[in-house]
Order: sequence, then C-alpha cells, then structure tokens
Amino acid sequence: MSDMIQVKLPDGSVRPLPRGTTPLEVARAISPRLAEAALAAQVRPTSNGHEPKVVDLTQPLEQDAEVRILTEKDPEALEVYRHSSAHVLATAVLELFPETKLGHGPPTETGFFYDFYREQKFTPEDLAKIEERMAHVTQRNEPFVREMADREDSIAKYKSEGDWMKVHFIEKHTEAGGKVSFYRNGKFVDFCRGPHIPATGRIKAFKLMSLAGAYWLNDNKNPQLQRIYGTSFFTKKQLDDYLHQLEEAKKRDHRLLGKQLDLFSIQELAGPGLIFWHPKGGIIRKIMEDWLREEYLKRGYALVFTPHVMRVDLWKTSGHEGYYAQNMFTKMELDDAEYRMKPMNCPGHILIYKDQMRSYRDLPVRLGELGTVYRYELSGVMHGLMRVRGFTQDDAHIFCTPQQIEDEVIGCIEFALAVLETYGFKEYQVELSIWDPNDRAKYMGGEKMWDLAISSLENALKRKNIAYKTIPGEAAFYGPKIDIKLVDAIGRLWQLSTVQFDFTLPERFGLEYVGEDGHRHQPLMVHRALYGSIERFFGVLIEHYAGAFPVWLAPVQVVLVPIAERHAGYANQVADELRKIGVRVEVDARSEKMNAKIREHALQKVPFILIAGDKEVAAGTVNVRTRGREKTEDMSSADFAAKIRKLVESRAAEIG
Ligand SMILES: [Zn+2]
Ligand SMILES: [Zn+2]
Repeated sequence: MSDMIQVKLPDGSVRPLPRGTTPLEVARAISPRLAEAALAAQVRPTSNGHEPKVVDLTQPLEQDAEVRILTEKDPEALEVYRHSSAHVLATAVLELFPETKLGHGPPTETGFFYDFYREQKFTPEDLAKIEERMAHVTQRNEPFVREMADREDSIAKYKSEGDWMKVHFIEKHTEAGGKVSFYRNGKFVDFCRGPHIPATGRIKAFKLMSLAGAYWLNDNKNPQLQRIYGTSFFTKKQLDDYLHQLEEAKKRDHRLLGKQLDLFSIQELAGPGLIFWHPKGGIIRKIMEDWLREEYLKRGYALVFTPHVMRVDLWKTSGHEGYYAQNMFTKMELDDAEYRMKPMNCPGHILIYKDQMRSYRDLPVRLGELGTVYRYELSGVMHGLMRVRGFTQDDAHIFCTPQQIEDEVIGCIEFALAVLETYGFKEYQVELSIWDPNDRAKYMGGEKMWDLAISSLENALKRKNIAYKTIPGEAAFYGPKIDIKLVDAIGRLWQLSTVQFDFTLPERFGLEYVGEDGHRHQPLMVHRALYGSIERFFGVLIEHYAGAFPVWLAPVQVVLVPIAERHAGYANQVADELRKIGVRVEVDARSEKMNAKIREHALQKVPFILIAGDKEVAAGTVNVRTRGREKTEDMSSADFAAKIRKLVESRAAEIG
C-alpha cells in the first residue's frame, strides 16, 4: 500500500497527499482562509459506488477520495452545526440540572432537539436559564473531540450511572465486541456517531423554541421524556429572519384564516383529512377551476372525467396494488369483484387513450381532469389543507412521439408559469431531478429513453431561459422530472407544479400508436400537475395573501353600507348594477352602528366597502374604502363599476 493518496478537489484538480491527511490539512493546503471557515468535510471515496459522507475535519483520510470542505455556504454543513448545537444544549442542561438523564439530540428540518428524562418538569424560566448557559458554553469555545472506547466498558459505565437511554442506544446501534465513538466538549461527553463542527464557539446564533413531552421510543407505556426544541443558524441575521418568518406564518396560518373567513372546515364526524368547502371557499374554487378549464381548452387539452372507484384488477395492471397499496384506502367488495378508491388519475386516462388505435397523426394526446383522489395518510401527519386524505389534482397526461416531446415539455412549463403569474407569484425555483448516473440499474426504461427524456427537459428549460438546479439521484425509478417551487410573500418555498416522465405505465398497459413507418411504437407519457392539488394550492394562496385575496378571487368583492335606513334603496340599486356586471356584492342594511359594520367587513378582508348617505344619494356617488388604505375616495357609481370590472378582468394581484 502506497503512503500517498490522491485527493480530488471540487475544482477538478487532484493532489497527492500523505495517507492519514485530515480534511483540515487539505483545507489549509487550499487556503488558510478556507481552513478558518471550514466546519466539516464531505468525502467520497473515489473507488466506485460510494456515497459522499460528511465527516469531522479531523477524520484522517485513508483512501483516494473526492473532498469538499464545507463552510457556512454549504447547506450540508447546517445539519452538523445544528446537531452540534444539540450537544451544547445537553451540556448546558447537565451543568444546571446534573440529575438529568440524556436521550438523543438529532438535527431537524428547522433546528434540533434533545430528549431529557428528569422527574421535575422544566419550566419556561428553566428554558431561559438553559439558553443563557448555552451562550457560556459557546463562549468557552470548547473543541469537539472524537474519542473511541470499548463498547462493553461503555455500556457498563452508563449502566452504573443509571443512563438507561444511552445503554439502549449503544446496544441497539453498535455491534458487540467493537469500539464506539464519543464526542467530548469540555467536561461533557456524549455517545455519538458524529460528525461535529470544530468547536462550540463556532455556533453564532441559536434560540430555544419550545418544550414538549415525548414518550421514550414513542410508546405511551414508557416514561415520558422532556423534549427541548431549539434552532440555530450561521448568522444572527438568518436567525432573526427565520423568527420573523415564523411570526408572520402564525398570522397567516390557513387553518385559522379558513375559520375566521369561513372558507372551509374539517369535520370530526366525517373523518380527518377530508375537506368541506364552505360557500366562500367554494366560490374561490369555482374561479380557480374555471380559469384552469378555459386554459386547458386554449392549450389543446381535452377534458375528461374518470370514476372515483375502480376495480383492483386495474390497480394490479398499473402496479399501484404492488408498490402503492399502503397509500391507498382499503378495498371494498361489490358483487364478486374488489374495488379501490383511486389514489391517482393516470390509469383512468390511460384507459381512455387505449380505447382506440392511435396514429402518429392523433398525437400528442393531452387528457386533463380535475380528478379527486384518495390517499391514506397517517393521522399524525395531516395538516389543514396541506396534507389531506382526499384532494383534487389538476391532473393531465400527455401521450406523444419522441419528436414532439420537447415542445410538449415547453408547453407544460409555459402553462406552469402562467399559473404563477396569474395568481400573483413573482419568484420561483426550478429543480430537474435525474437518475443517479452511478446506479443506473435501479431505473426503468433504459439508457436511450432516459437520455431523451432528460435532454428534452433540459432543452425546454434552456429554450425558456429558466435557471434550474439539477439533482442527480432524485428522479423516481420510472422517469426524470421538473419541479417548480414557488416563493410566497414571506419567502417560504412551496412545491407547486411537476412535469414527470413515466416509462413504466406505457409498458404495463401496452400503449401503442401507429408510426409514420406503419409500425407500432410505444408513446412517451408525461404526468403533469400545475396547482398540484387544489386544496393545497388554496392553502398556499390563503397564506400568501394572508386571506386578503386579489379582487378577482375575493369571495365578496364589495359590501355596500347605507348610513341610515333611508339610504338602503339607493345602496340596493348600486348593488344591482354591480351584480349585472358579475360583481359579488352584499348590502349590509342591518341596524348596527356603521363603524361596527365597517370593522366587521374589514376583518373579513373585503376589498371594497362602499358607504352611501345623503350626499352620495344626491350626487349618485359612493364613498369607497379600499382594503388596507386609510383614505376614502368619492366616486360616481359608474366609475367604481368600471374600476372593479377592470381589476377583475385583468386578474390584478394588486388592489389598484
Ligand atoms: Zn453528536
Ligand atoms: Zn399521473
């Protein structure tokens, strides 16, 4: 074995370095600045088939490898940083409450937590003290040091100290007779696989968020642990932005607004994850559906309807009965056959395609449906309109020839961008998920199909001048895809549209068309959803607009408030004129105080409240209060009608 190894750097250069060199030394060799900024390293052994692994900067390199030094600029470093923050939390807790026993402390999507067992409950004041102590631990800037120990000795030591959870973790996650790793910072030592950042002082911004109960091993017969949640970021600014976003998100929560604005509900008696659209949500849904159906027809789609319940034989042919069964509602029996609620619309559309022999002259065939599907979600993961058990997809399937595919993908992208623009979203991100080039065997369809599909997706994005990120290994086994994620008003990302190739279903159903050459060929098939699910998209709209919908979507666009009873006739007359041009208008002639009425409708986020009194009746005008503005405006009722008509017709995102 040679004493030297070949270390490949992200710029493509290769450096021969002594075996046992650490990533920190690699970083120093690149630049002292990089070594200073380094938090961890990503290492992929060059010999084929290895996944990249994130390791400590002090972990010696034992074989040829690609090495990437991770700093604050790399998202991969954040997990290590947050897990290290969890160690700092545990350090602080043990210093303040030495009787506490430790569970585990992983990073999460938004931060980290650590599970503790202690007879006494932590109080909010305790949390404040712990947070303060964590600041000390970071100021002490203790290095995280990896130490190895004999497994059996470690178990014995933990047992003697009554650390029953640690005993469990070592016994479960390591093999008998071996060594196990610990991480030390100062006096604090934790059984842990790592990796960690270099020292506690590198943690610059953190906050403890909440305290929750969690049963040991998620079993309610077990003792209850106290889980402390926290979050940490590379900079104070990032942390502040995140906290601000959380505050904003709370105000915009679609579940609260859905109730306040009477848009939708979920009914205990009917079951979880099933949405009831109330009249005000229903009118918005109608507008969303109408717009979409019109666009379908303009863009050469055919509209179809397929049954909600279909025979299990169909789901066997499609393969869902095999790999998707756990996501489906259970079977029901009817006559001598078994049926299932549909979890997807694709097999239905395929049956329509297959119902006649297709020629290349018939292609592309674009079948669209607002199809309601039912999927089994665990009761714990359901969330308002966002994660549900029944939802309606704006689902379409395109069947075409290889020559047509690129233009079809472009058509999908243009349609998706039209959705974003129409609903007032200005920013979005695009991801292209392709196969893992090192592991092609696990994908269906073969190299030629994949190359064609990936290049058509890439070319379409390039032709539309759209910036995108390619993610190798993220494609489904049946085909590559484009995902479009929108950025909402407070900077959150939401998965929206998908354009997904499918190489398995045409094969499974034996789809064909007669080509120009007179022979039979298999068409390409693309699944494509733009809203994703109407329910979820509605949830996103509620949160994006905080319930203050653009005029064209607002359930009630105008409320007329007559000042006294004698003005009600005039108010009704103006309302009738507005109704004639399709405006959704109400007259509030109740005998309440005018200001109370105005406040009530303002809370309902009605775009325009029109006041009518003696002056207005005499002049044929209305006094217009525009949502979100202090100043009111006098306008002839005809001018107001023209104004609102324009706002609705242009689907303006702003109130104008
Ligand atoms: Zn750790
Ligand atoms: Zn589909």
